[in-house]
Amino acid sequence: MFDYIVVGAGFTGAVLAERIATQLKKRVLIIEQRNHIGGNCYDQYNEDGLLVHKYGPRVFHTPDKQIWEYLSQFTEWKSYQHKAAAYVDGVLVPIPFNLNSIECLFPKYLAEELSRKLIELFGYGSKIPILELRKTEDAELKLLADFIYNKVYLNYTYKQWGLKPEELDEYVTGRMPIYITRDDRHYHDKYQAIPRFGYNQLFKRMLNNSNIKIMLNTDYREVVTINHHTKQVKFMGHAFEGKLIFTGKIDELFDYCYGELPYRTVDFNVKVLQKEHYQDIACINYPNDYDFTRVTEAKHLTGQVHPYTAIVEEYHRPCTRKDVPYYPIPQQQNLAIYAQYQQLALEYPSIILSGHLADYHYYDMNVAVAMALSKFDQELQLQKSLLSTGR
Ligand code: UDP
Repeated sequence: MFDYIVVGAGFTGAVLAERIATQLKKRVLIIEQRNHIGGNCYDQYNEDGLLVHKYGPRVFHTPDKQIWEYLSQFTEWKSYQHKAAAYVDGVLVPIPFNLNSIECLFPKYLAEELSRKLIELFGYGSKIPILELRKTEDAELKLLADFIYNKVYLNYTYKQWGLKPEELDEYVTGRMPIYITRDDRHYHDKYQAIPRFGYNQLFKRMLNNSNIKIMLNTDYREVVTINHHTKQVKFMGHAFEGKLIFTGKIDELFDYCYGELPYRTVDFNVKVLQKEHYQDIACINYPNDYDFTRVTEAKHLTGQVHPYTAIVEEYHRPCTRKDVPYYPIPQQQNLAIYAQYQQLALEYPSIILSGHLADYHYYDMNVAVAMALSKFDQELQLQKSLLSTGR
């Protein structure tokens, strides 16, 4: 009945299903274990009628016109320039840490001196990862780097990952470098917005195609079996001759044969407040205070007008098999296990792996979309070459 089975209805699975259905005109079955599409981007109205991002705040941003135009087929946008802040020594300062943050925290003469040195050394407008800044030899900048490291990164990273910044691959804290600028926006990408009618609506429009069928509330293992000796895939007990696109956990797919890959999960504590607003911006980080990492007020993202507001506190902890695996943990020993799974996957020609769980790498939404589009292009080329050789 189906040419492709897609496991997972997040951005990766949805983009691939949409492309296959509309460009290859093939039939796709999406199998999703949750009771909704949209993966971790899913947003929903709570019982008070407030639109909340169920799995944490989602701000879409990309420098890439092609990605922007691709998604614009499925949604209109509400312009939004994301700003975040953090409490440091009781003072609310812009995050990512920038020249304005320095000015908030240090006496004027010192702030001016530090800013001058940063601009001289790195250039105005540059972005410097904290672990890079700590390598500086200038004594004053070294003091600044240690200050930022201790007050912004160390405890926040420990809360989020259970590890120190230097125990993780440098790209983790590199995702949020120090900005040598007075531009307070969190992202500086050309395209930045929130789907006007929510992410859920975007996904619904993306998957609204007669070639796409969706099976919700279904663990793929209930209907798909993989014989790891013959590499054959079965669907509902019958040999499946099509392709299986898998966006779930790579270690689970291969029955944990090289051991379990660790992930971090997040508990979201949602509070509905009977007032219009709680904080002035969408996200406030608490690197050193409390046990949660940040508080998000979704109304700043969604633009919803409502007499009440909802805030969400995020608590991170190790992930068990029953939890939602949000963050793969990029440490050398885990990446070595992942590399073994990746090698093994090459022996399964009918299985395509894509997405942050299958790649064991944390992606922003725009990157997940770009990678799924490029996987589709590979598949398209393959189908074309099979067609031209008559196979
Ligand atoms: N980070 C931090 N303090 C902050 C914000 C971020 O130490 O106030 C670190 C933390 O290790 C985090 C990384 O920077 O994992 C990347 O931050 P980002 O905001 O991109 O995290 P995400 O939103 O993806 O959870």
